[in-house]
Amino acid sequence: ALVADARAGDVGAAPAKERTEPWPNDPYPAGSGVAQRYTTLRALLAGELDPDTVVQVLKDSGLRGMGGAGFPTGQKWGLVRDTRPGDSVDGTKYAICNADESEPGTFKDRQILATQPHLVLEGLLLGMAVVGAEQGWVFIRHEYGPEEHVLRAELDALREAGVTGPDACGSGRRLDVEVFVSPGGYILGEETALLECMEGHRGEPRNKPPFPGNYGLHGRPTLMNSVETFADVPVILQRGAQWWAEQGAGDSVGWKFFAVSGHVERPDVYCVPMGTTVRELIALAGGVSGGREVGAVQPGGASSNFIGPDKLDMPLDFGAAAENGTMLGSGAVVVLAEGTDLLAASTNVLRFFRDESCGKCVPCRVGSTKAHTILRGAVEAGAELDDDQRAHVLRLEEAMRKTSICGLGQVALGPVVSVLGLNKGGAAAREQPRPSGAADQPDR
Ligand code: NAD
Ligand code: SF4
Repeated sequence: ALVADARAGDVGAAPAKERTEPWPNDPYPAGSGVAQRYTTLRALLAGELDPDTVVQVLKDSGLRGMGGAGFPTGQKWGLVRDTRPGDSVDGTKYAICNADESEPGTFKDRQILATQPHLVLEGLLLGMAVVGAEQGWVFIRHEYGPEEHVLRAELDALREAGVTGPDACGSGRRLDVEVFVSPGGYILGEETALLECMEGHRGEPRNKPPFPGNYGLHGRPTLMNSVETFADVPVILQRGAQWWAEQGAGDSVGWKFFAVSGHVERPDVYCVPMGTTVRELIALAGGVSGGREVGAVQPGGASSNFIGPDKLDMPLDFGAAAENGTMLGSGAVVVLAEGTDLLAASTNVLRFFRDESCGKCVPCRVGSTKAHTILRGAVEAGAELDDDQRAHVLRLEEAMRKTSICGLGQVALGPVVSVLGLNKGGAAAREQPRPSGAADQPDR
């Protein structure tokens, strides 16, 4: 589906898959309810667990942000906790769970929300209690209607049980969580555009720094993590930092959810230890569809550079991905079978970024359009880029990478350039039928 039509709405069409088995990391028995869950939150609010200990455990565990960038979670929580009243407009702090998952090929958070909303909300509530926020939000993508429903039902149950509300768990502290439905647009998942949107402004990214942890919603320190990151927190606090750190290796540890799609037999969400290789993950997904060989893989969503079949033994972790010229990103592994027209596929990804550019900065707005025009011309002609076109695309990539305000513009041309590097986007590949819809949209 990614190759055919890399649009944000793709994964919005069907609800997350129903699952009968719990994920391997959920510390709560299947079928338990609010009364049996939220035990770590209750301990924290009862004073049996110290907030500084929570921050330290997260640091010891090595948990990193699973939204894509891998920022150390314990460091972020400590930073927001330590930002004192007076550093901002007043003593108010906020917490936000970023559930605006919109990277093409990325649908893991959707599955987590559908099946483990208790872990996501316990993580968010723990974050609120640790940093000193009374109000939290889950900012959810508007296409995730069924998951929003699940979330709201869990929030109702929490309020009814007194876990949240003006006297959360009888602690005398107020903890409230609301759902904020994104009005739409891929860029709203960028954390500062998300804040602008929640403040009622046009959803465009801000310059960073300041980071939301210091200056977030309405200028208040705001703890923001993704769905998967928040869901990992109660798991780690219950099972222990060491248990988490024992999975994986180096600076990438713990469990990781991957959305595997493209040319595989069983596209789905898989939860595996960090460091699982690309080859192993493709095997879990039933191998390449039709028994074909791998042509290329995007290991970290549409923003990540393609890697060739020679790198299938690359461990899926932050460090190894960077060493191999790509990134772990949003946990979306997109597999393209041998014979796929990679230039067409990467041009289609570029079309997505061109369409979703918010237009705030010139290099991204103009550069993505120019590059797409050049590439679409070559794809439609079934030709290679000539030397001038190639040099032009490379110059645009450099300008966008170095001067764009946010990640969208910085990485928009990365996948295309990586395909040029693989040297497999040429006419020979086009002897195979092109995926329908690839690069077939008119330029604006
Ligand atoms: P970033 O490196 O700017 O920031 C990562 C996080 O760390 C942010 O929350 C930021 O506030 C915080 N941070 C970084 N430096 C800090 C500092 N010095 N002090 C305090 N906080 C600090 O990256 P980003 O632009 O937020 O995210 C980029 C990633 O998002 C990409 O790698 C991409 O894979 C991913 N992405 C994910 C999706 C999705 O749907 N999940 C969509 C698009 C992009
Ligand atoms: Fe908007 Fe692109 Fe600039 Fe990001 S890089 S702020 S999406 S114009």
